[in-house]
Amino acid sequence: MNENINRNSTARWRDLDIRHHLNPFSDYKTLKSEEGGSRIIVRAEGAHLYDSEGQKILDGMAGLWCVNLGYGREELARSAYEQMLELPYYNSFFKTTTPPTVELAEKLAELAPGDLNYAFYGSSGSESNDTVVRMVRFYWNKAGKPGKRNFISRTHAYHGSTMASASLGGMKPMQQIYGLPLEGFHHVVPPYWYDFGGELSPEEFGLQAAQAIEEKILELGPETVAAFIGEPIMGAGGVLIPPDSYWPEVQRICNKYDILLVADEVICGFGRTGEMFGSQRYGITPDMMTLAKGITSGYLPLSAVMVNERIASKLREEGGEFAHGYTYSGHPVSCAVALTNLALLENEDLVRRTREETGPHLRGRLNELVDHPLVGEVRSEGLIAAVELVRDKQARSRWDDKGTAGQICRDHCFARNIILRAVRDAMVFSPPLTIETSQIDELVDGLRVSLDRTLEDLARR
Ligand SMILES: *Cc1c(COP(=O)(O)O)cnc(C)c1O
Repeated sequence: MNENINRNSTARWRDLDIRHHLNPFSDYKTLKSEEGGSRIIVRAEGAHLYDSEGQKILDGMAGLWCVNLGYGREELARSAYEQMLELPYYNSFFKTTTPPTVELAEKLAELAPGDLNYAFYGSSGSESNDTVVRMVRFYWNKAGKPGKRNFISRTHAYHGSTMASASLGGMKPMQQIYGLPLEGFHHVVPPYWYDFGGELSPEEFGLQAAQAIEEKILELGPETVAAFIGEPIMGAGGVLIPPDSYWPEVQRICNKYDILLVADEVICGFGRTGEMFGSQRYGITPDMMTLAKGITSGYLPLSAVMVNERIASKLREEGGEFAHGYTYSGHPVSCAVALTNLALLENEDLVRRTREETGPHLRGRLNELVDHPLVGEVRSEGLIAAVELVRDKQARSRWDDKGTAGQICRDHCFARNIILRAVRDAMVFSPPLTIETSQIDELVDGLRVSLDRTLEDLARR
């Protein structure tokens, strides 16, 4: 591209973004000003993005935790193209469906743990978590226990941005001023040892955090509690990796009080943790599972709720239709791309590679950062990881409660053409599963330099 045209189009796109576009999760006061403005991403290949000024950027976040196969995969583009020519759209309402829709349902049933043999589709994780709320209440109604309507989740959880999924979530800034959570949604402490574990060992704390769910169940009355929902590893909440004692205890408690266990696998699913699903990493068998993001590597919008035999057989009994669904539920083009995406994930052996090669390499390199004065803890599982920035390692204390250290560090990484995300004061990683070990080195080396710069900035304040 001609240098001048290039500069002009960047200015034009920035200007359009400021004048006409409301970006998600953005502070418009800072973004929509002359000194702010968005970076315009125009192209991508492998683990790299290219912006409109020709900068090459290493994407340590796989977009938003989703581009698991990396960018520029011709096979995915081709399957979308072919399916669009064959049948670009038809719905699954009113006794119809399409071949890719049901073939993907079979594939998901084969991959999913236990007897999670049924898929209900949507176009986003948020939509599918709304489906969970609807379906769980429909289930308990049919099961003759309409009083079971409450949901239990964790603070710091992210389950999406619609009214119901944000109610399941536990992020304060997403709730108070929007009148959320809606009635019937309750939150307990997350298994976040670094911030909440105090003097307990991680394993002791894991048990205690699980038992907080039991206390909440008893407080509400087990006959009123419908389900517990959790991500095996909490992603957007700061990559909170639970102690191994946590999930088996959660499963025991849910079984004891007949509470449905829902695993939100939107990030953990499809290999991120080094197992096909996070539930398998932690040895749990959920009743339902939410899938999205990695299901198509983000190439097209698609999500699913996987449902086990117990629930599906109840839904199939006499007594009224499940009055719920989306125009794009089971969209044939998205499902065709998902089928190709899952075939590539298997053919390229990416789950095993994440568990045995790239995951351990990332962990090894991150462990080298623990001697840095800013680093309080590093944690990782497969290709999802976090580095906690602290003021005082002994006291596990922060620089402030606004996540300033994280933001400064994130900006230094960004300036070095490396994308990592800051969640409060944790720098988080979720690269494409196709990432090379040399690119992992580049991310960690870039982070170390950025940590040095961040420390200088913080000391100067
Ligand atoms: C991203 C995410 C969602 C929401 O998915 P959308 O496709 O953005 O609606 C739900 N749950 C988890 C765990 C997520 O990471």
